Amino acid sequence: MIPRVLTVAGSDSGGGAGIQADLKTMLALGVHGMSVLTAVTAQNSLGVQGAWELPVAAVRAQYRSVVDDIGVQAVKTGMLASAELVETVAELILGTDAPAVVDPVGVSKHGDPLLAASALASVRAKLLPAATVATPNLDEVAQLTGVRVESEGDLRRAAAAVLEYGPRWVLVKGGHLPGDAVDLLTDGTDEYRYRAPRHDNRHTHGTGCTLASAIASGLAKGQSVPEAVTAAKEYVTGAIAAGFALGAGIGPVDHGW
Ligand code: PLP
Repeated sequence: MIPRVLTVAGSDSGGGAGIQADLKTMLALGVHGMSVLTAVTAQNSLGVQGAWELPVAAVRAQYRSVVDDIGVQAVKTGMLASAELVETVAELILGTDAPAVVDPVGVSKHGDPLLAASALASVRAKLLPAATVATPNLDEVAQLTGVRVESEGDLRRAAAAVLEYGPRWVLVKGGHLPGDAVDLLTDGTDEYRYRAPRHDNRHTHGTGCTLASAIASGLAKGQSVPEAVTAAKEYVTGAIAAGFALGAGIGPVDHGW
């Protein structure tokens, strides 16, 4: 049977990030994608013009519909908007017998908040402990742990600080550092570094969503975490290289490369 992957995330009306990026990634990687919407955003290449979160009951009902009938081999979480939704989703993924990739989405590339500041404590206490792999970028690492990464040498300390909250693995995304894009994956024992030359392409909207969904797709196919991250990095690097202009601002990565 085709592997089934569930994304629990927000909608991006512009089709570049969020649920839309997740489902495109899953299609490209040959798994069946399913979605539990947590929030709806009015969004385009210029930023987020509005955001509305769904009621907890609506999130629970979508999740149960999918898991109870169709079943899932991996779950990915993205924008969760509020403390209530963070806690609900953490409880749901803990009760599901499938690996969970948690992208602790905080702020969009344009600086628009996708998570209430009051939800950070719930991300630390409930969501990170439920994660098989957490995929914070450097801003999210700083928000969650207080560790500021200024060079590649700081990545190990940042990863250790995230692991304190209990995810099995952490992938610290160093893409915002100058020079080569370097990410560090570790479970506290094994460590892997992923290095890719920086693409001179500003059309990178949806990068984080795409990477986390690609990791979940690999896990659903039975890959180990390091194997899934290796394949996901390759996928997202291709998608970034092929990113294209759309609207007047930052265009999306391309899933058709
Ligand atoms: N919109 C939604 C619904 C998202 O989930 C995310 C990221 O997770 C974004 C926007 C931000 O995407 P980016 O930072 O790549 O612009």
